[in-house]
Amino acid sequence: MSSANPRPPTADLYDAHVLNNYGRPPLTLVRGRGAQVWDDEENAYLDFTSGIAVSALGHCHPHWVQAVQHQAGQLIHTSNLFRNPRQGDLARRLVERAGPGRVFFCNSGAEANEGLIKLARLHGMRKAGGVEGRCIKIIGAEQGFHGRTFGGMSATPQEKIQHGFRPLLTGFSFGKLNDLRSFADLIDQDTAAIFIETIQGEGGINPATPEFLRGLRTLCTENNLLLMLDEVQCGVGRTGAFFAFEHADVRPDAIGMAKGLGGGFPIGAIWIGETAQDLFQPGMHGTTFGGTPLACAAALAVLDVMEQEDLLANVQQLSPAWHQQLAALVEAYPQHVKRLKGSGYMVGLQMVEDAAGWVALLRAEGLLAPMAGGNVVRLLPPLNATAAELTQAVDCFQRVLAAKS
Ligand SMILES: *Cc1c(COP(=O)(O)O)cnc(C)c1O
Repeated sequence: MSSANPRPPTADLYDAHVLNNYGRPPLTLVRGRGAQVWDDEENAYLDFTSGIAVSALGHCHPHWVQAVQHQAGQLIHTSNLFRNPRQGDLARRLVERAGPGRVFFCNSGAEANEGLIKLARLHGMRKAGGVEGRCIKIIGAEQGFHGRTFGGMSATPQEKIQHGFRPLLTGFSFGKLNDLRSFADLIDQDTAAIFIETIQGEGGINPATPEFLRGLRTLCTENNLLLMLDEVQCGVGRTGAFFAFEHADVRPDAIGMAKGLGGGFPIGAIWIGETAQDLFQPGMHGTTFGGTPLACAAALAVLDVMEQEDLLANVQQLSPAWHQQLAALVEAYPQHVKRLKGSGYMVGLQMVEDAAGWVALLRAEGLLAPMAGGNVVRLLPPLNATAAELTQAVDCFQRVLAAKS
C-alpha cells in the first residue's frame, strides 16, 4: 500500500498548496472505470464513495464520455442571458419526473438549496401580504445537512458546521426527524416553509418515513407552507426511484438536487411546482455558470443511460439481496456493527465505534466508502453496480470485521 512507499511528488505538491480543509487519507486517484478507481501506484479500489453519490453511472461510462466530448466540441457555455437547447431538454425531462412546474439550474447542492431558501422568503412575503422580512421562518430537521454556504449552514444545526461562522441567517428552527408533533409545534404565522432531506445523508443515513412525509405534506398544505425537499444526495435514482419521496407518494412544492444529476459534471437544479413557480420573476435570481450546454449534456447523458440500462430497476432488483448480506454482517458482528440503515444504493452501517477507523481499514482492503454522522460507514455504489460488485463490497467488509474479532 501507498503508505509503505515514499510518497510521490504529486502528494507533496498537493499538500503544500491545496487548502487544508479536509482530513484526507494518503491516496491519490488517477483513473476510473465503472465501479473501480486506481491510485497513482496502480492499486485498484472498489469505489462505493462514487465521489459522494455523484458518479451515478460509475466512472467514465462510454455514453457519458461521448456525450460530453461531443458537446465540448459544439458549445460549452453561453451564460443564462440566452436560451440553450440542452437546458430546455433537461428541464423537460426533470419536469416529467417531478411533476408540473419549472426548473432552475445551478452548479452545486448548496447553490440549489440557496435557491430554495430564497424561494421560501418569497413565499413568506406573499403570505404576509407583500410585507418583506416578517414571514421568514423555516423549519428543518435535527442532524440535517444542506451545504456550506450561509443559507446551507443556517439550515444545518451542527456545531462542527456552524462553529466560527456565526452570526448565521435567522429564522431557522429544527424538529426531530420522524416526529411530526415536534414539527407541528414549531409552526406559527411567521413560518414560510419546511425544509428537510428525504433521507439524511451526512447526518448518518436517516430516512424520513413515508408516514412522516405525508404528515409534513398535510401540515404544509393546512398552514400554507412550502414543503421543500433536499434530494441533493438521495435523489436521481439512488433509492431505486428517481426521487426518494416517490416511495412515500407525496409531492413537495420544491426540490433541490445536484450530486448524481451530472454523473460527475457539476450541476445542481431546483424544481418548483406550479403553486410557487411564479414567485421568481426576471432579475430576482441568477447564476453565470448554471445549466451550461456542457453541464446539461452531461446530465442528459445520465438520464439517457438510466433509461437505456434500466438503472432504477437495477437498484430495485439488486438491493434486497445486498441488504440481506449486509444485515448478516450486523448479525455476525454485533460487537462492531449496530444496524443497517437506508434504502436502495444509499445505505449505512452504524458501527459501535467511530467510523473513521473502519473506513481506513476498508480502504486498505480495497473498498472506498465514506463515513457519515460520526459512526456510520456509508455505501454509495454507482447505480449500475452489479450483484458481483455489491457482494465484493460485503466480502471486503466481512474480512475487515473478522480480522478485528
Ligand atoms: C452534499 C449535500 C449538499 C451540498 O452539496 P454541495 O454540492 O456540496 O454544495 C446539500 N444537501 C445535501 C443533502 C447533500 O448531501
